[in-house]
Amino acid sequence: MEINYSKADLHLHTTASDGAATVRELLAHVARTDLRVIAVTDHDTITAALEAQQMAGAYGVEVIVGEEVSTREGHLLVLFLEQELPPGRPLAETVAAARAQDALVIAPHPFGFLVNSLGRTGPLGFGRHAMPAWAMHVDAVESFNAGLWSPRNNTLAAQFAAAHGLSVVGGSDSHHLPTVGAGYTRFPGCTAADLRHAIVQRQTRAAGVMWGTLRQAEAGALQVRRGLSGLLTPAAATIS
Ligand SMILES: [Zn+2]
Ligand SMILES: [Zn+2]
Repeated sequence: MEINYSKADLHLHTTASDGAATVRELLAHVARTDLRVIAVTDHDTITAALEAQQMAGAYGVEVIVGEEVSTREGHLLVLFLEQELPPGRPLAETVAAARAQDALVIAPHPFGFLVNSLGRTGPLGFGRHAMPAWAMHVDAVESFNAGLWSPRNNTLAAQFAAAHGLSVVGGSDSHHLPTVGAGYTRFPGCTAADLRHAIVQRQTRAAGVMWGTLRQAEAGALQVRRGLSGLLTPAAATIS
Protein backbone atom coordinates (compact mmCIF):
# COMPACT_ATOMS: atom_id res chain seq x y z
CA MET A 1 0.00 0.00 0.00
CA GLU A 2 1.32 3.41 -0.89
CA ILE A 3 1.91 5.75 2.04
CA ASN A 4 0.92 9.39 1.68
CA TYR A 5 3.07 12.03 3.31
CA SER A 6 1.96 15.46 4.50
CA LYS A 7 3.64 18.65 5.60
CA ALA A 8 3.32 20.42 8.95
CA ASP A 9 4.85 23.68 10.16
CA LEU A 10 5.33 23.15 13.89
CA HIS A 11 6.75 26.52 14.93
CA LEU A 12 4.62 29.63 14.34
CA HIS A 13 4.17 32.92 16.18
CA THR A 14 1.18 35.27 16.11
CA THR A 15 0.29 38.66 17.55
CA ALA A 16 -0.35 36.87 20.87
CA SER A 17 3.43 37.01 21.33
CA ASP A 18 5.95 38.69 19.01
CA GLY A 19 4.49 37.69 15.63
CA ALA A 20 2.90 40.06 13.13
CA ALA A 21 -0.05 37.95 11.97
CA THR A 22 -3.36 37.48 13.73
CA VAL A 23 -4.88 34.02 14.02
CA ARG A 24 -7.33 34.79 11.22
CA GLU A 25 -4.57 36.04 8.91
CA LEU A 26 -2.42 33.02 9.70
CA LEU A 27 -5.19 30.49 9.01
CA ALA A 28 -6.23 32.21 5.78
CA HIS A 29 -2.63 32.13 4.65
CA VAL A 30 -2.05 28.49 5.61
CA ALA A 31 -5.24 27.49 3.76
CA ARG A 32 -3.49 28.55 0.53
CA THR A 33 -0.40 26.42 1.20
CA ASP A 34 0.21 22.65 1.13
CA LEU A 35 0.50 22.50 4.92
CA ARG A 36 -2.07 20.07 6.35
CA VAL A 37 -1.20 20.62 10.00
CA ILE A 38 0.26 23.58 11.88
CA ALA A 39 1.24 24.18 15.49
CA VAL A 40 0.72 27.67 16.87
CA THR A 41 3.59 28.10 19.33
CA ASP A 42 3.62 31.59 20.80
CA HIS A 43 6.03 32.54 23.55
CA ASP A 44 4.54 31.63 26.92
CA THR A 45 0.90 31.78 25.87
CA ILE A 46 -1.62 29.44 24.23
CA THR A 47 -4.36 32.05 23.79
CA ALA A 48 -3.97 32.32 20.02
CA ALA A 49 -3.34 28.59 19.62
CA LEU A 50 -6.66 27.74 21.31
CA GLU A 51 -8.44 30.32 19.17
CA ALA A 52 -6.78 28.93 16.02
CA GLN A 53 -7.76 25.37 16.89
CA GLN A 54 -11.39 26.39 17.26
CA MET A 55 -11.42 28.23 13.93
CA ALA A 56 -9.29 25.75 12.00
CA GLY A 57 -12.09 23.63 10.53
CA ALA A 58 -13.35 26.49 8.39
CA TYR A 59 -9.91 26.79 6.82
CA GLY A 60 -9.36 23.08 6.09
CA VAL A 61 -6.29 22.85 8.29
CA GLU A 62 -5.63 21.10 11.58
CA VAL A 63 -4.12 23.11 14.44
CA ILE A 64 -2.05 21.72 17.30
CA VAL A 65 -2.09 23.83 20.45
CA GLY A 66 1.54 24.55 21.26
CA GLU A 67 3.66 26.92 23.30
CA GLU A 68 7.29 27.99 23.12
CA VAL A 69 7.97 28.02 26.84
CA SER A 70 10.85 30.09 28.20
CA THR A 71 12.44 27.73 30.72
CA ARG A 72 15.45 28.66 32.79
CA GLU A 73 17.66 26.59 30.50
CA GLY A 74 16.23 27.94 27.24
CA HIS A 75 13.23 27.69 24.95
CA LEU A 76 11.18 24.52 24.95
CA LEU A 77 8.58 23.78 22.29
CA VAL A 78 5.57 21.95 23.73
CA LEU A 79 2.89 20.45 21.47
CA PHE A 80 -0.60 19.05 22.20
CA LEU A 81 -1.19 21.22 25.24
CA GLU A 82 -4.44 21.84 27.05
CA GLN A 83 -3.28 24.18 29.81
CA GLU A 84 -0.77 26.99 29.43
CA LEU A 85 2.63 26.41 31.02
CA PRO A 86 4.22 29.31 32.93
CA PRO A 87 7.67 30.60 31.92
CA GLY A 88 10.74 30.90 34.15
CA ARG A 89 10.81 27.42 35.64
CA PRO A 90 13.62 24.86 35.41
CA LEU A 91 13.49 22.68 32.31
CA ALA A 92 12.79 19.45 34.22
CA GLU A 93 9.84 21.02 36.01
CA THR A 94 8.40 22.36 32.75
CA VAL A 95 8.83 18.99 31.05
CA ALA A 96 7.08 17.23 33.95
CA ALA A 97 4.17 19.66 33.73
CA ALA A 98 3.94 19.10 29.97
CA ARG A 99 4.02 15.32 30.35
CA ALA A 100 1.26 15.51 32.96
CA GLN A 101 -0.88 16.86 30.09
CA ASP A 102 0.33 14.13 27.74
CA ALA A 103 2.05 16.76 25.60
CA LEU A 104 5.16 16.27 23.46
CA VAL A 105 8.31 18.27 24.20
CA ILE A 106 10.79 19.38 21.57
CA ALA A 107 14.09 21.28 21.68
CA PRO A 108 13.66 24.19 19.23
CA HIS A 109 16.72 25.65 17.45
CA PRO A 110 18.88 23.57 19.84
CA PHE A 111 22.21 24.97 18.67
CA GLY A 112 21.05 28.44 17.68
CA PHE A 113 23.72 30.66 19.14
CA LEU A 114 21.85 33.96 18.99
CA VAL A 115 18.65 32.54 20.42
CA ASN A 116 17.73 31.27 23.83
CA SER A 117 18.49 27.61 23.16
CA LEU A 118 18.79 24.55 25.34
CA GLY A 119 22.01 23.48 23.64
CA ARG A 120 23.60 26.89 23.34
CA THR A 121 27.12 26.04 24.33
CA GLY A 122 29.13 28.32 22.05
CA PRO A 123 29.36 29.52 18.46
CA LEU A 124 30.95 26.25 17.38
CA GLY A 125 28.45 24.08 19.19
CA PHE A 126 30.90 22.71 21.72
CA GLY A 127 29.57 19.76 23.64
CA ARG A 128 27.32 18.47 20.90
CA HIS A 129 28.92 15.05 20.91
CA ALA A 130 28.12 14.29 24.52
CA MET A 131 24.52 13.53 25.47
CA PRO A 132 23.52 16.61 27.44
CA ALA A 133 20.86 16.48 30.14
CA TRP A 134 18.28 18.39 28.10
CA ALA A 135 18.38 15.80 25.33
CA MET A 136 17.19 13.08 27.72
CA HIS A 137 14.01 15.05 28.30
CA VAL A 138 12.80 15.70 24.77
CA ASP A 139 10.71 13.70 22.31
CA ALA A 140 12.35 15.39 19.34
CA VAL A 141 14.87 17.94 18.19
CA GLU A 142 14.00 20.77 15.80
CA SER A 143 16.67 19.96 13.23
CA PHE A 144 15.43 22.55 10.77
CA ASN A 145 14.52 26.05 11.91
CA ALA A 146 14.12 28.45 9.00
CA GLY A 147 14.82 31.56 11.05
CA LEU A 148 18.30 30.89 12.36
CA TRP A 149 21.17 33.20 11.59
CA SER A 150 23.36 30.39 10.28
CA PRO A 151 22.32 27.17 8.49
CA ARG A 152 25.20 25.52 10.33
CA ASN A 153 23.15 25.58 13.52
CA ASN A 154 20.64 23.33 11.77
CA THR A 155 23.38 21.04 10.49
CA LEU A 156 24.63 20.62 14.04
CA ALA A 157 21.10 19.84 15.24
CA ALA A 158 20.56 17.25 12.49
CA GLN A 159 23.92 15.60 13.23
CA PHE A 160 23.16 15.61 16.92
CA ALA A 161 19.72 14.01 16.42
CA ALA A 162 21.18 11.34 14.13
CA ALA A 163 24.03 10.56 16.53
CA HIS A 164 21.66 10.13 19.46
CA GLY A 165 18.74 8.47 17.67
CA LEU A 166 16.39 11.37 18.38
CA SER A 167 13.27 12.17 16.37
CA VAL A 168 13.42 15.35 14.25
CA VAL A 169 10.94 18.07 13.34
CA GLY A 170 11.13 21.18 11.18
CA GLY A 171 9.45 24.54 11.58
CA SER A 172 9.59 28.02 10.14
CA ASP A 173 9.72 29.92 13.48
CA SER A 174 7.72 32.37 11.42
CA HIS A 175 6.90 35.79 12.81
CA HIS A 176 5.56 37.05 9.44
CA LEU A 177 3.22 35.43 6.91
CA PRO A 178 5.70 35.20 4.00
CA THR A 179 7.93 32.84 5.96
CA VAL A 180 5.14 30.45 7.02
CA GLY A 181 6.02 26.95 5.80
CA ALA A 182 9.65 27.89 5.09
CA GLY A 183 10.54 25.09 7.49
CA TYR A 184 8.38 22.01 7.78
CA THR A 185 8.01 18.46 9.08
CA ARG A 186 7.16 15.69 6.63
CA PHE A 187 5.20 12.79 8.10
CA PRO A 188 3.27 9.71 6.96
CA GLY A 189 -0.49 10.38 7.08
CA CYS A 190 -2.33 13.68 7.11
CA THR A 191 -3.74 14.41 10.57
CA ALA A 192 -2.28 15.82 13.78
CA ALA A 193 -2.73 12.37 15.34
CA ASP A 194 -0.72 10.83 12.47
CA LEU A 195 1.96 13.44 13.03
CA ARG A 196 2.12 12.73 16.74
CA HIS A 197 2.45 9.01 16.06
CA ALA A 198 5.18 9.69 13.50
CA ILE A 199 7.20 11.82 15.95
CA VAL A 200 7.02 9.12 18.61
CA GLN A 201 7.94 6.44 16.06
CA ARG A 202 10.78 8.55 14.58
CA GLN A 203 9.20 8.56 11.12
CA THR A 204 9.38 12.31 10.51
CA ARG A 205 11.73 14.31 8.30
CA ALA A 206 12.63 17.98 8.63
CA ALA A 207 13.32 20.27 5.69
CA GLY A 208 12.82 23.73 4.24
CA VAL A 209 14.58 26.89 3.16
CA MET A 210 16.03 29.59 5.38
CA TRP A 211 13.98 32.80 5.64
CA GLY A 212 16.02 34.14 2.77
CA THR A 213 17.12 37.39 1.29
CA LEU A 214 13.64 38.83 0.74
CA ARG A 215 13.01 38.96 4.43
CA GLN A 216 16.56 39.67 5.48
CA ALA A 217 15.99 43.14 6.89
CA GLU A 218 13.11 41.92 8.98
CA ALA A 219 14.93 38.76 9.97
CA GLY A 220 18.01 40.78 10.88
CA ALA A 221 16.07 43.05 13.19
CA LEU A 222 14.52 40.07 14.92
CA GLN A 223 17.88 38.35 15.27
CA VAL A 224 19.36 41.44 16.88
CA ARG A 225 16.51 41.50 19.40
CA ARG A 226 17.01 37.80 20.05
CA GLY A 227 20.76 38.17 20.39
CA LEU A 228 20.51 41.06 22.80
CA SER A 229 17.86 39.32 24.80
CA GLY A 230 19.93 36.13 24.97
CA LEU A 231 23.15 37.91 25.89
CA LEU A 232 21.70 40.27 28.44
CA THR A 233 19.28 37.89 30.12
CA PRO A 234 20.15 34.25 29.48
CA ALA A 235 16.75 33.09 30.73
CA ALA A 236 14.88 35.80 28.85
CA ALA A 237 11.20 35.17 29.25
CA THR A 238 9.77 37.42 26.61
CA ILE A 239 11.70 38.04 23.44
CA SER A 240 12.92 35.98 20.48
ZN1 LIG B 1 12.86 30.32 20.28
ZN1 LIG C 1 9.97 30.75 18.04
